[in-house]
Amino acid sequence: MSTNLTRRRFLQLSAAGATCIPLVSLTGEARAATNQALRAQYKYQDSPVDGKSCTSCLEFIEGSSATAPGRCKLIPGDDEISPNGYCTLWNTM
Ligand code: SF4
Repeated sequence: MSTNLTRRRFLQLSAAGATCIPLVSLTGEARAATNQALRAQYKYQDSPVDGKSCTSCLEFIEGSSATAPGRCKLIPGDDEISPNGYCTLWNTM
């Protein structure tokens, strides 16, 4: 059962990640991208809930500074995750 849940979650993340096309300009300069499908699926928002925020979540990858947008290990293709954001996957274990 645990294997099925893990496999299901992997497939969900893969499918949603594939739909997110990284934005790269013609000059090759990378631009900010968001993964709207997974944001919606996990009810991501740019503000904390009950003191829980991305900055205190183990899945958060800090940006260029403590206040700059970062990334999330569970939302591929998105480099606009707010340190003050929150989603239903918030995790501290
Ligand atoms: S799992 Fe959710 S709460 Fe945690 S860093 Fe990613 S978007 Fe933020």
